[in-house]
Amino acid sequence: MINRRELIKQLSAFPILGSFLNQSNEASVSLIKSAPVRNIAKELGIRTFINAAGTYTSMTGSLMQDEVVQVIQGAAKDFMILDEVQTKVGEQIAKLTHAESAVVTAGCFSALTLGLAGVLTGMDQKKVEALPHLEGTGMKSEVIIQKGHSIGYSHALTNTGCKIVEVETLEDLEKAIGSQTALMWFLHIQSDKGQINHEKWIEVAKKRGIPTMIDMAADVPPVENLWRFNDMGFDLVCVSGGKAMRGPQSAGILMGKKHLIEAARLSMPPRGSTIGRGMKVNKEEILGMYVALDNFIKLDHKKLWKTWEDRTELIAQAAKSVQGVSTEVVVPELGNHTPTLKISWDANKTNVQAKTLQENMRNGDPSIEVMTGANNMLSITTWMLQPGQEKIVAKRLKEELAKALV
Ligand SMILES: *Cc1c(COP(=O)(O)O)cnc(C)c1O
Repeated sequence: MINRRELIKQLSAFPILGSFLNQSNEASVSLIKSAPVRNIAKELGIRTFINAAGTYTSMTGSLMQDEVVQVIQGAAKDFMILDEVQTKVGEQIAKLTHAESAVVTAGCFSALTLGLAGVLTGMDQKKVEALPHLEGTGMKSEVIIQKGHSIGYSHALTNTGCKIVEVETLEDLEKAIGSQTALMWFLHIQSDKGQINHEKWIEVAKKRGIPTMIDMAADVPPVENLWRFNDMGFDLVCVSGGKAMRGPQSAGILMGKKHLIEAARLSMPPRGSTIGRGMKVNKEEILGMYVALDNFIKLDHKKLWKTWEDRTELIAQAAKSVQGVSTEVVVPELGNHTPTLKISWDANKTNVQAKTLQENMRNGDPSIEVMTGANNMLSITTWMLQPGQEKIVAKRLKEELAKALV
């Protein structure tokens, strides 16, 4: 480590740098001083842990890529015009995702609300200010979704004042479309729970002149999903930035048709008299989201997958070495598409409830979060682990399982 005096001495050897340093501004001085960074979580007694569970909002989602953090730190030192940041970043994101246009939102949830707001208002400023009150404004008021897609996130749509109309069959859908239909919404993670597939949904919508939106919040990987639904013909596509992509946890992307993105932005900050004013994304996160996406697309996804598999295997071997414990790796087809290790045990040989084991892992040192399945089952993913943490998870898990042997 180089200390400050040495640094100045070395820099002074270069006349230009040296004189630069003597009249340096406060910012560079404070950088050189490099005061120890406060560990606020520690100061406040906030528990940090190894995340072998997954990308859960309650567990603060994912850890940002190092380069995203660097971009955020860099951007924090300059003022910019918010709209210009969104426009320039949006153009790049659109290119990467085969969309006409894109904007960074405060997560996927706000992308759903803002995208629908754009559909409802178009470029009519009066309508923008009227939301979420639709009556007497001439705005449409219904969003059609499949019953199996109704899992709570559709609340983002009712935030605009719209009502949800649920359908099951194709016949239901044809009948449900009417003069009040604003949008046909599709939830990718539940696509196996509805009778109507993506293509058919778009086909019917196009035929009847209704815009479509898809929520694919947790559906990268596979990386191709980032452009697949734009290519398929959805008018609006919404994704989370702070899940597998490891962008800012409070960022997401709304992408799709140019005129709809433009209209959605009327309900976004800096514009104040809007339903979206509270869904602010700062310049740092907008830029960070772009870099996260760009890096994620460029990743060697085969290699990344192999890393997740190797970690999973290491943990599985450790667990299985305890008598009566068995493991299985499953990969969810829809949502959180990553190797997921299911660990189960014979209750006659290993006397512990999954909840207790989960708590023991949480209360151990270091603290580790895992998920529970049934009474005798734990569920573990390795994609949120930092390199090497799989060894700690394997060791602790084995200890806890062995402890419960009868
Ligand atoms: C996570 C998630 C959301 C919310 O996304 P945020 O980025 O946290 O706002 C919406 N829909 C689905 C299906 C999700 O999994």
